[in-house]
Amino acid sequence: MIEIAGVIKRFGANTVLDGIDLRIAPGEVVSILGASGSGKSTLIRCINGLEKLDGGAISVDGHRVDDPNGLRQARRSCGTVFQLFNLYPHMTALQNITLAPIEVLKVPRRQAEEEARELLAAVGLLERADAWPAQLSGGQRQRVGICRALAMKPRYLLLDEVTSALDPEMTAEVLAILGKLARSGTTMLFVTHEIEFARHISNRIVFLDGGRLLADLPAAHFFAQDGGMAQPRIAQFLSRMS
Ligand code: ATP
Ligand code: MG
Repeated sequence: MIEIAGVIKRFGANTVLDGIDLRIAPGEVVSILGASGSGKSTLIRCINGLEKLDGGAISVDGHRVDDPNGLRQARRSCGTVFQLFNLYPHMTALQNITLAPIEVLKVPRRQAEEEARELLAAVGLLERADAWPAQLSGGQRQRVGICRALAMKPRYLLLDEVTSALDPEMTAEVLAILGKLARSGTTMLFVTHEIEFARHISNRIVFLDGGRLLADLPAAHFFAQDGGMAQPRIAQFLSRMS
């Protein structure tokens, strides 16, 4: 369980997260929607301990991220993929995927490579195992990024706009992979602007507005006239996005 309780984050005078409460249980797919600047990425960065909290607490399976030991455990449990393709440019696709399992989990190289090839095969990139990131398309790089996160066998997968730098065809490629993961029971916290996709794969949808959590509803209810849509701010957001 990821537990976010009363989280406050400020940048100077700007309160970017203003008392966020959110729980993600194993097996859930939770999408975070909200306008640009509403605090979505900051929330993901807080879960990863990349930002220091000004209030409240975050724990992953009971490990508090404001404690160095807890953070180490929490990071092991959370695989993260960001918007930009942050592969190591001087390593092949395969090397990008095997680095952390070998260095951190001490998995023998041959086993790590075998598992990496299985992951690459699952995302249709087995034949690109030895390619350098610069030789891959954006969608391919993002799929390798997802494999790299999955190679650590994370309990939770955190995804921050993993398709927003991609064209529609590449977006479809990556969403297909994420849909498969969701259906296979992978726990996901998914920041996205892909509303229709979020609607289909999510158990719950969370809406952030100016650092406040305006809604945390079952996906179907979020889009219902008497659900999320009953809130003018959410209705306005959804009408602009469609
Ligand atoms: P987008 O949809 O554009 O990615 P977002 O919801 O992810 O937006 P955040 O990146 O979390 O938004 O930013 C929330 C607010 O925090 C914004 O006002 C942003 O300018 C501010 N912010 C984010 N990071 C920093 C930082 N390192 N220093 C100062 N302000 C920051
Ligand atoms: Mg963002």
